Amino acid sequence: MEISSRIPGFYNMTIEERKKYLIDLYNLSEEDAEQLLHHPSLPEETADKMIENVIGTFSLPLAVGLNFTVDEKDYIIPMAVEEPSIVASASYIAKIVREAGGFKTEATERIMIGQIQVVGCPDFKKAKEAILSEKDTLIQAANDAYPSLVARGGGAEDLEVRIINEHSSQYSQMLIAHLYVNTCDAMGANIINTMVESLAPVVEHLTNGKVYLRILSNYADRCLAKATCTIPPKLLASDGFTGEEVRDGVIQAYEFAASDPYRAVTHNKGIMNGIDPVIIATGNDWRAVEAGAHAYAARHGKYSSMTTWSKDEEGNLIGELELPMSLGIVGGASRVHPMAKLAYKILRVDSAKELSRVIVAVGLAQNLGALKSLVTDGIQKGHMALHSRSVAMAAGASGELVDIIADKLVEEKEIRVGYAKKLMEEYVK
Ligand code: NDP
Repeated sequence: MEISSRIPGFYNMTIEERKKYLIDLYNLSEEDAEQLLHHPSLPEETADKMIENVIGTFSLPLAVGLNFTVDEKDYIIPMAVEEPSIVASASYIAKIVREAGGFKTEATERIMIGQIQVVGCPDFKKAKEAILSEKDTLIQAANDAYPSLVARGGGAEDLEVRIINEHSSQYSQMLIAHLYVNTCDAMGANIINTMVESLAPVVEHLTNGKVYLRILSNYADRCLAKATCTIPPKLLASDGFTGEEVRDGVIQAYEFAASDPYRAVTHNKGIMNGIDPVIIATGNDWRAVEAGAHAYAARHGKYSSMTTWSKDEEGNLIGELELPMSLGIVGGASRVHPMAKLAYKILRVDSAKELSRVIVAVGLAQNLGALKSLVTDGIQKGHMALHSRSVAMAAGASGELVDIIADKLVEEKEIRVGYAKKLMEEYVK
């Protein structure tokens, strides 16, 4: 069966039916099918080897975002997240963008940065020159510390040096060396940390200073991925709103976020609503991606919108999202967590670059989903209807009662735990 991310009626299937659909669609092996059907979690013995002081595991719902076409390839997107309406909203927008030709993406080379901090140099200018004069030797030494990466076509490629706070007090003066490393398909934190640690003694010798920090920078501004979409207004029309009204509302909502950090933080949180679930489902480090993304949003000196929205000469809505993507398809938990391993089979990405490109497309879809709701019905209509089931469960409902109470909450427009408890009491009576 050809893999299409368009699966009409998926929402109405039972969990069992959805699993079976995916098993058939991907022709999953018996082992993978067994994992999906009967062991949808992390075994404690694996967890115990991943981190310290383990007392159990903590599960999140794992869902799939549908309808995504990115660079003319269909992707079904595994998303691990607790918040209702994220997956529905991403899938809804992906369907619109699909009709408009899909997302277009690109990515830079995957160059990650390792930092070495040197303090107490008797002469910082001379120290800088000394490091730069031995640049090739240092790059070679870094690569000698990780020959397997070089064998894969990656490795340390460049080195730069800056003097920070040159004219300030002795404590704030320092020299910072940046080692630029092509980490291939790994996020590269451990790779880079190994490399920069190995360089520390030579750097101390060259500078007559003291090396303190030797660590990856999560500001991965040489490891960027960008997604764009072009949507004719007619595809944006919704109940009571013309496509042009929705398009103009989205652009003005963007302008708000671009100019006001109070709005930008929430706007960007909505983008990460799409990105983090894929990062988590693929066993990547979401703190690293979050930190890099927010820093990038402030790269012009003021915290601003991660996306841009505008219109072209034909009146189409144009969206763009570019972010640092410090992630991998190997390393970390990506090949340890059994559900992450399965997530890669569903995603069908062959490289870290491809994963990065797909993830920024999801972030862009998520942003448009939130903005479209905000400029039309408001976020609460769709969100609270989906949230009603969590509210019912928080009030103690289980089994069939969850949907009964949730429907009542929506019908009476009172989606509150207190009211759900009252309904439960009446129902039990
Ligand atoms: P790993 O330490 O697991 O290293 C990835 C390994 O995968 C490589 O060393 C390489 O080992 C192997 N590999 C196999 N195929 C490839 C390929 N195609 N390309 C590249 N490597 C390949 O992971 P990372 O170095 O990526 O580190 C990520 C982890 O580090 C995450 O868990 C993160 O949470 C954590 N971390 C994050 C920090 C931060 O963000 N500041 C700081 C410290 C840790 P070999 O060559 O031997 O086969």
